[in-house]
Amino acid sequence: MLHILVVEDEPKLAQALREGLEEQQYRVTVARTGEDAFFRLHSEKFDLVTLDVMLPGRSGLEILARLREQGLTTPVLLLTARDSIEDRVYGLDAGADDYLVKPFAFPELLARMRALLRRGAAGGVPAEKTGQKLSVANLSIDTARREVLRGSTHLDLTAREYDLLEYLMRHQGSVVSREMLARDVWKETARATPIDNVIDVHVARLRRKIDDGFDAKLLHTVRGVGFILREEEVAAQ
Ligand code: CA
Repeated sequence: MLHILVVEDEPKLAQALREGLEEQQYRVTVARTGEDAFFRLHSEKFDLVTLDVMLPGRSGLEILARLREQGLTTPVLLLTARDSIEDRVYGLDAGADDYLVKPFAFPELLARMRALLRRGAAGGVPAEKTGQKLSVANLSIDTARREVLRGSTHLDLTAREYDLLEYLMRHQGSVVSREMLARDVWKETARATPIDNVIDVHVARLRRKIDDGFDAKLLHTVRGVGFILREEEVAAQ
């Protein structure tokens, strides 16, 4: 049973999260202060932490930064009442894996949690501390800042385009199918036909942004199979 640490000082919300998550067959421990969370994380093993930002005493971000410094790699989903780009960037810089703004719908929380747990369970990619730099040819991304550079040109991607690119980067050199993208980037478990068009549109848009104006094309379509991000041309099939 996956063990979740819920760090939340507001009793009602803490209780609602506990009940909701237990109903989903998670084992739940609640910590009401940052200090308590800190102690628990040093004495027990958790698969995921949901961390409220506004806590009495030290803030969730302070606690998180300190834990990451100490090498804690457990996925952390920040829950916060504040929504600004600055806070989001600061939270991700502090070592959060994802970010959810209150009030949120419970299914949204579950979906985010599942995505993080899958990533952790996949095992291939080490949990990020302050993000990773990934690159193929002269295209590079910074996963903490969600910044994309082609050569020295900064590229502006939408959140979805970025997620798509990061996914392709993590699978660079291998063919990524539309099924994989639907499941892992769009989080569509029951895949309907229309999502294919959505995926194609996003891939086309992403390709324009990363490849237009550059001699070496990086994002290729593998007909009938999917897409591949790599330096060389893919032979037509
Ligand atoms: Ca709070």
